[in-house]
Amino acid sequence: MRIQEGLYWYKEKGLLDANTYVIKADITILIDPGLGKYLGRQLEEMQEDGIDPKDVDSILITHLHPDHCDATAAFTEVSDAKVALHSSQLEYLDVMIEETSRFLGMATSKKFEVDIVFDDSFNIGSKELKILHTPGHSPESICLYSADEKTLICGDLVFDKGVGRADLPFGDEEELIKSINMVSALDTELLLPGHGPIIRGKSNVKRNYEFIRGFYFR
Ligand SMILES: [Zn+2]
Ligand SMILES: [Zn+2]
Repeated sequence: MRIQEGLYWYKEKGLLDANTYVIKADITILIDPGLGKYLGRQLEEMQEDGIDPKDVDSILITHLHPDHCDATAAFTEVSDAKVALHSSQLEYLDVMIEETSRFLGMATSKKFEVDIVFDDSFNIGSKELKILHTPGHSPESICLYSADEKTLICGDLVFDKGVGRADLPFGDEEELIKSINMVSALDTELLLPGHGPIIRGKSNVKRNYEFIRGFYFR
């Protein structure tokens, strides 16, 4: 579903799936392919928006939990997309997927190759996405921020009236709070979490951070 010019949202399709976002700029990137089981449906929804899997240049992953990255290998088989990981994600690539799958009682996801490694920004042509390393929910969690559009893709860091759990393998509650404090300082008009609804409008985003502070930070 198109949510604004060049930005598409594909809602999570069930338990252990995640929201997927597609940004169409000079290049097209897909963030969090989700659970492999739902990839067929996701590709259909993308086709309805006129996005062919072959249009996707790069796949980025907010963090290496299987609900976000399980479909990565399968997606590369139906596209020519390159897998781009943040530098903090490299060392956790295998261990995070294995440990979390075991914790959640799921089969381990199919392995994928890493083609591109990026750090504090990701170039999408004439624009650049700022990459924030936001550990806590997991140590290799990142957020993607577009300063032009005031848009933040935040993975499992914050949700509508919620925060990511810190009790999964390698989670850290203190780091989570620090990361939330960092992203809450960004000028954000559109908050795009890994699960649940998106939040539109600066005042609604602000109110959500205030709710989280009051409810979870004690
Ligand atoms: Zn997660
Ligand atoms: Zn998740």
